[in-house]
Amino acid sequence: MIDSLFYLGSCLVALGGGGPCSPAEAPASLTIATSRGESVVPVLNHFGHPAIAAPHLGSALPVTFSFESGGWVTVAFAGEPFRFLLDAPLMEHRDRMMHLVGGAYTSGDTLYVPLQWLSEVIPSVFSEGYSYDPVAARFEEVGTVPVITTVSSSAALSNPVPAPSSGQPRPAVPEPNEFGLRFPHTVAIDPGHGGVDRGNPGLYLPRGVSEKHITLAIGLELKRALERRNINVIMTRTTDRRVDLSDRSTLCVGDCELFVSVHLDALPEGPGYTRASGIHTYIWGGSQSANARRVAAMANQALQYEVAQNTQNDEELAFIMRDLQMNEHQRESSVLATVVQHMAASVHPGNDRGVEQANYAVLRTARRPAILIETGFASNQRDARFLISTQGQRSLAEAIAEGIVEYLRVYESKLSTP
Ligand SMILES: [Zn+2]
Repeated sequence: MIDSLFYLGSCLVALGGGGPCSPAEAPASLTIATSRGESVVPVLNHFGHPAIAAPHLGSALPVTFSFESGGWVTVAFAGEPFRFLLDAPLMEHRDRMMHLVGGAYTSGDTLYVPLQWLSEVIPSVFSEGYSYDPVAARFEEVGTVPVITTVSSSAALSNPVPAPSSGQPRPAVPEPNEFGLRFPHTVAIDPGHGGVDRGNPGLYLPRGVSEKHITLAIGLELKRALERRNINVIMTRTTDRRVDLSDRSTLCVGDCELFVSVHLDALPEGPGYTRASGIHTYIWGGSQSANARRVAAMANQALQYEVAQNTQNDEELAFIMRDLQMNEHQRESSVLATVVQHMAASVHPGNDRGVEQANYAVLRTARRPAILIETGFASNQRDARFLISTQGQRSLAEAIAEGIVEYLRVYESKLSTP
């Protein structure tokens, strides 16, 4: 499992021992002092957190960056890679997912990295090589050779409690429970298919067992795993019955915050088709690969069991409204998908197939951040063995639950950050 480091509530100015913490107090510029001289780079605040243009850093420090697929960018410092999920307050370093006050993003053609990376993360990782003075807004090379320090979760970085600010009283924030959550949460779990809609029959599933049975078993394990973490759960089904696709996501309204649909993939017979394996998480979206079109068509086959009127009721305005809401949730869905995929892939015997966009009906109609997890391939022997075992179902459910809790912690940090 992945250790988490928290940067919640930490504030660059407050760390210097001074006044209240707000983005307005971030420095307007940063001095970088190395053995080669000093330079001053501007600090910008496009999205409520201080950030620096990566090319500015590259001219003064051993910083390089490269964009990857799936919205990630790797920024290397002295060759040590740090992966940022663009537009999300998440950074991965040595298999640890870290929460930042704000993340990396692009504006125009320029990549911006959060000042927090340079002011807190780098001095921790390279503790004998670099230091940061928040009062002077000065990043300084203190050793000639950077020394990498292994960050432990008990290090100074892992402070889940917001730094107390002197002066202005802050609204009371409830203490976090043992899972690091401060507020009650409700999540909808949607075990795919059911009843006459059996889902994929699965080459390597036991006789009489099909996708609908596996998704229900994993869904019920996930329900128990979340409830053990004090999270309320709504199930779209708890028995072997068919639920209209259009009714599934609409169960997640009111207090319900997230929608998680569970499926099982399979490739049609063809050359080498039993070799494909692994877990894959989808969010709704228009930019689809051929693979995304294939899996969406498979999951949407359930529509054939539904009465035609359900899909014809959509009035234009309702449709546009849904589209707008969907866009609003797109970023949150992407963060949720990334964290869940990361956790679940770490216990899965197959490949980590990443996060992708697809036109799943259950995701399109969701009024909340929504993901669909293809938990593995019934056409792959090792995946199928894992997914039909109680042990496999349980470990996968635990990992997905951890991912959901991780996401909710990030979400809560945004609520409590001014
Ligand atoms: Zn399915």
